[in-house]
Amino acid sequence: MDREIIDQLTAIVGADNASTNPVDLVCYSVDCYAIKKGSMPDIVLRPNSVAEVQGIVRMADKHLIPVVPRAGGSCLTGGCVPTRGGIVLDLQRMNRIIEVSKENLTVTVEAGVVFAQLNTYLQRYGLFFPPDPASGEICTIGGMVAANASGMRAVKYGVTGDYIIGLKVVLPDGRLLDMGGGARKSASGYDLIHLFNRSEGTLGVIVEITLKLRSLPRFIMSAVAKFHSPEDAGRTVARTIAAGVIPAAIEILDEVALQVMREEAHLPLPEAAAMLFLEFHGDDRSEAQKALNKFRKIADEEKCAGIEIATDPVEMERMWAARRRLFATFTRLKPSPIATDIVVPLSKIPEAIREIQEIARKNDVKITTYGHAGDGNVHSLLLADLRIPGESDRAHKAHDDINWMALRLGGTITGEHGIGLEKREMTKDEHGEVGVDIMKRIKKAIDPKGIMNPDKIFEV
Ligand SMILES: Cc1cc2nc3c(=O)[nH]c(=O)nc-3n(C[C@H](O)[C@H](O)[C@H](O)COP(=O)(O)OP(=O)(O)OC[C@H]3O[C@@H](n4cnc5c(N)ncnc54)[C@H](O)[C@@H]3O)c2cc1C
Repeated sequence: MDREIIDQLTAIVGADNASTNPVDLVCYSVDCYAIKKGSMPDIVLRPNSVAEVQGIVRMADKHLIPVVPRAGGSCLTGGCVPTRGGIVLDLQRMNRIIEVSKENLTVTVEAGVVFAQLNTYLQRYGLFFPPDPASGEICTIGGMVAANASGMRAVKYGVTGDYIIGLKVVLPDGRLLDMGGGARKSASGYDLIHLFNRSEGTLGVIVEITLKLRSLPRFIMSAVAKFHSPEDAGRTVARTIAAGVIPAAIEILDEVALQVMREEAHLPLPEAAAMLFLEFHGDDRSEAQKALNKFRKIADEEKCAGIEIATDPVEMERMWAARRRLFATFTRLKPSPIATDIVVPLSKIPEAIREIQEIARKNDVKITTYGHAGDGNVHSLLLADLRIPGESDRAHKAHDDINWMALRLGGTITGEHGIGLEKREMTKDEHGEVGVDIMKRIKKAIDPKGIMNPDKIFEV
């Protein structure tokens, strides 16, 4: 990028908010996905207003410079990593909560507001934004919209996309597209809002979002259940949801996860082949207890080896520690793990768990299965260390096998993390020639010069 353009871009955000320092550029050339490498950006810019974003994008459009939106940088698929240099647009300074409406149960925020900060702020109104990614302390609302993030509570409350009623997006030519914000539902024209939801920064820069909110639950109860086999645990999940019992969270941890969390994180977990971690929300104790009783009946029929219950916040936090600390603990053990996030039909969960164990054996890779089993989102962590010859190749092969299995079982290769760089070779396998052709035409119509986050989702 020539000096004159760097100076003009720097002038838009001010020298304190622009960097071409190699140390910064290296940091912005990675995200939480360790395997496929991107490239270094030429410059990192941290805008503070919609007008600054527009100014930057107009310059990029004029000089054909790639623009990669980035916020929390917690992406697990290389989605916010540049592949052709250019600009990384760090939106973290755009972190204002613009308006909370208690009457309308909505909030309007800038894209860089962090999920956990928003929910801490909303507590004073007795409200919350439910999708609960495990990365909630770092990921932003803009990043969540771009990836359609969700988490443990999606089983009851849905995903980010279910809550968006308004969006402002800076288009690749610098125009501002303003979509709704006041109406809780709409039948007006094409659903442009949800075109940008899941777009992974490839269609424009999301700058402002209006979200629907929910009232905080009055009563919360947690439970953990031990099982003699992961298949029994998987069947319990599928039967519980099919019976109409919808916990606020129902997470599975397999034997490998339990063993590692016992040994590495020193948590007092029992010996079990699998455990389910559950949260029940209700207006009062009896509502939560009723749901728990129905769950217990099904779990007992599936040979559950014991259920522990807690309602005290400290005790509940202790119970959930194994689940919450899992990713960080495994990353300490093996520095470049691959996280899969397939979703399969609920009835196929036991089969998926069994096949993942087989894939681990076949490829000689240690794999732990865990995750939001209540909506069929079976996560696996494939433990790999790039420094050990062959290990990451074997993990990659196992990763592909798991994704193929998800498609064969009628599911999807990603329920949360998106496609990014990591899975783009499989987009056609999931969506077919026609699906990818339509996606490419949409991309061309909105971003004819191909400057927005190139090389993500599909190969150009
Ligand atoms: C430990 C850990 C746990 C995780 N757990 C979960 C989980 O439970 N559920 C889940 O869904 N995800 C999870 N993730 C993945 C990740 O946190 C989510 O994808 C999250 O939505 C990314 O938000 P971010 O602000 O960090 O975005 P980034 O990582 O900065 O970017 C993600 C993608 O969105 C684009 N983007 C970001 N901001 C904008 C914007 N304003 N406009 C346009 N495009 C934009 C980027 O270009 C990129 O393609 C986890 C990640 C980690 C590291």
